[in-house]
Amino acid sequence: MVFGFGKSRAVEPSSEEIEIESVLFQGALNGRPVDLKANARLASAGLVPAKGLISDALSRRAEMIRIEPKGRVATVTLYVDGVPFPGSRLPTQQGLAVTQMLKLLSGLNIQDRQKPQSGGITTEFKNTPFHLLIDTMPIKGGGGERLIVRARNLNEQLETPDQLGFTEHLRERIREVTSHREKVVLVSGPANSGVTSLSFAVIRSIDAYLYAIYSLADFGERSITHIAQQEPVPGESFETQLARCIRSEADVIIVDPLRTDDRLKVIFDNADRVSLVAEFRARDAADCIAQVRQKLGPPMVAERLGMVLSQKLIRKLCDECKQAYRPHPKLLQKVGLPPETKVLYRPPQPTEEGPPEECRKCGSIGYFGRTGLIEAIEISDPIKALILSGADPRQMKSQARKEGMQSFQSDGLRLVAEGKTSLEELQRVFKG
Ligand SMILES: [Zn+2]
Repeated sequence: MVFGFGKSRAVEPSSEEIEIESVLFQGALNGRPVDLKANARLASAGLVPAKGLISDALSRRAEMIRIEPKGRVATVTLYVDGVPFPGSRLPTQQGLAVTQMLKLLSGLNIQDRQKPQSGGITTEFKNTPFHLLIDTMPIKGGGGERLIVRARNLNEQLETPDQLGFTEHLRERIREVTSHREKVVLVSGPANSGVTSLSFAVIRSIDAYLYAIYSLADFGERSITHIAQQEPVPGESFETQLARCIRSEADVIIVDPLRTDDRLKVIFDNADRVSLVAEFRARDAADCIAQVRQKLGPPMVAERLGMVLSQKLIRKLCDECKQAYRPHPKLLQKVGLPPETKVLYRPPQPTEEGPPEECRKCGSIGYFGRTGLIEAIEISDPIKALILSGADPRQMKSQARKEGMQSFQSDGLRLVAEGKTSLEELQRVFKG
């Protein structure tokens, strides 16, 4: 224990009455000491409710918690699998105490309520280590502060191609494109769409026993087995590092997300000697191709880009409580599912007798966890021609569909047909 609370009963007399397993706060991520004695009044008002709120949120699998003062109450919103759910309402004073307490535990300045601040807390919940990342934001007009907590489970593994729902066909295409020591594979998507997990899954689709895969990317505490991590030599430029990797007979190299035009150019310049995988921020695969073409010119992109993948996250139905139903033939026709589809699934529906039975696994949300909807555009000869002729993203998308490449829509319908998600959830994802 870094400081004197957590399991200690002395400052938490009511802990024995709390049935739900409680989170342990272990220290501020910025390393600043947290002085509870000097803030005894705040601690006595805020510690127990802060623990209760975080424990409840983590036990409901929330990845984000927002606490916001609104008139006489503070509202709490929990985000589970990317969807907001209203949490408890706290009296204003308690909301303020919880906010200030979490700031104190993060090593932030509790005196300052006018400027945005960011920090975090090392915690443990049910023997699992979590980092709680804390952001505060003043509300305009002196309305207090909004606090956002993001929970990061440190034991969570990066997704494998299986978990992300890669089809065997898609894996085969990735293996083919990356097997000739040339071409760039770009992985794109909007913010918070799990793009890093997608690039891991791409790398994992490649047979690491047959091909030498090197990483020049910084994945923090996470690592991939069978992949040689190249530690940068201090003072060495990215180009030198890349050249060193290529000299050591790399077949495929994964690099950090491409955020500058210079880096993008280096990657394409080297894509005649090695296969490169990188992230690039874009709305979807076709938008990514158009953006890169604008930066590097059509000939370079047509010649050296091999494939672009993109992802949207979609919630999976809860295995414990999902409900089968027989879809109406008109519905099948409308959404484009085969007419012989006999059964689809959805979250449990209320009946005449009342709401559906409670589900302990998903907390009666009907969904548990997420998977990716994945689209892939391979640079075939017709797509190459479209890149060179200056065609727009829409034309590239429709050509890809014509060639039977996987689109968000085709992948989504596959997941619905397999009973992994519902039509309602598919509609929600496309609206957003
Ligand atoms: Zn359930």
